[in-house]
Amino acid sequence: MDFETIKAKADKYFMATYGRFNAAPEKGKSATLTDSEGRKYIDFTSGIGVNSLGYADAAWVDAVAGQASKLQHISNLYYNEPSALLAEKLCEMAGFEKVLFCNSGAEANECAIKIARKYSFDHYGEGRGKVITLVNSFHGRTMATLAATGQDVFHNYFFPFPEGFAYAEANNLDALKEAVDDTVCAVVMEPIQGEGGVMPLDKEYVKAAAEFLAQKDILLIFDEVQTGVGRTGKLYAWEHFGVKPDILTSAKGLGGGLPIGACLAGEKCANVLTKGTHGTTFGANPVVCAGALQVLERLTPEFLTKVRAKGEYFKSQLLKIDGIKSVRGEGLMLGAELERGTAADVAAKCVEKGLLVLTAKTLLRFLPPLVITYDEIDEGMEILKNVIENN
Ligand SMILES: *Cc1c(COP(=O)(O)O)cnc(C)c1O
Repeated sequence: MDFETIKAKADKYFMATYGRFNAAPEKGKSATLTDSEGRKYIDFTSGIGVNSLGYADAAWVDAVAGQASKLQHISNLYYNEPSALLAEKLCEMAGFEKVLFCNSGAEANECAIKIARKYSFDHYGEGRGKVITLVNSFHGRTMATLAATGQDVFHNYFFPFPEGFAYAEANNLDALKEAVDDTVCAVVMEPIQGEGGVMPLDKEYVKAAAEFLAQKDILLIFDEVQTGVGRTGKLYAWEHFGVKPDILTSAKGLGGGLPIGACLAGEKCANVLTKGTHGTTFGANPVVCAGALQVLERLTPEFLTKVRAKGEYFKSQLLKIDGIKSVRGEGLMLGAELERGTAADVAAKCVEKGLLVLTAKTLLRFLPPLVITYDEIDEGMEILKNVIENN
C-alpha cells in the first residue's frame, strides 16, 4: 500500500491523539528502515526506546515466532516456561527478589504505587498513602500515573484525578525534605528524566535522598521505563548512582518490540502483593516473555560496554554539528539543545531526508537501537548535520 493511502485510512479512523510524522516504515534491519515505496530511514528512535535489538534481529525473531507457533497465551492461572525463565533471568540480572509482569510502563508504575501503598498500609495503617514525584517527571497516561506525572500540562480535562500525589523539585534535597510528611509512603524518580528533556539526576542528590527516605521507611521507587534495559550503558541506570531502589519499574526496551512492563521489588516489598491483590490478563504472555528473554540474554557486560562506547561516539559526533549547543544524557539516551530553530521542525525535516529522531521539550532526543552500527550512526549523523546546519 502506498504512503498516502495508509495515512488517509489512519487519519480517518484513529482518534487523533498523535501528531504524526510523514513516514510509514514497512520493515527494517538493524537500525535501518524502509517503507513500501522504497524510501530508507536511519532510526535514532527505536520506536521510543523500544526496539533494543533493532529490527529483524534473527535470534529475537526466532524466539518470538517459535513461541507463537507453540503457545501464544495461557493466562496467569497456569504456569508457562518463557515467563518463568524471564522472571528468573530478570531478577538475577537486576538484583531483585520478585517481579510482576504487565504490559506497559504506566501499568508497571501503577503496580509500584499499589505496592508502596499496601506496604505502608500493612505496616502503618491508613493515612500514609501519599506518593511524592519530581517536578518535570513523566510516569504514564493512566489516571494515577497522569496524577503522578509532575507536569501541569498533563493535569487537564480528565478531572477528577486520583488524589495522594505531590511534587518536589528534582535535585533539591531541601524541597524533598519539605514535601515529605507522615502521610508519605514513597518517592518516585526517573534516574534521567526522559520526556521531561533528558535531565539526569545528581548523584549526590540521589544518595542523600535515598538515605533520608530509608530512615523514615519511605520507599524509593525508580521509574526506569525509559532508562532501563541497557539504554544508559548499564542494565539499569541506578547502577550509575550506586543507589538501589526498593522498587524498580521497567518496560519500553524490555520486550525488544513487544509490549511488556515489569515491576521489580527488593527484599522489603517482595511479598507485599498477595493472592488476589493484583492481576492482569495479558501480563507474562509467553510470546512477549520469549522476546524479552532474548533481549536480556544479549545484554552481556561486553554488550553494555559497546553501548557506552557507541554513546560516547554518538555524543562526540553531535557536538561536531554547528548549531548544537550542548548534549546531555548517558549511553544511548541523549538529548541535544539547539542553537536555533525548534526541535519539532528539525525532526520533521529529518524525516523528509530519511532520519527518524525524537524530541523532548525543546531538545532533540536520541534513543537509537542498542545494536546500531557505527556506519548507521554516521549515515544518520550526516543527515542531521545537513538539516541543522541549513536550518
Ligand atoms: C514511556 C514512559 C512511561 C509510560 O510507558 P507506557 O508504556 O507508554 O505506558 C512511564 N515512565 C517513563 C519514564 C517513560 O519514559
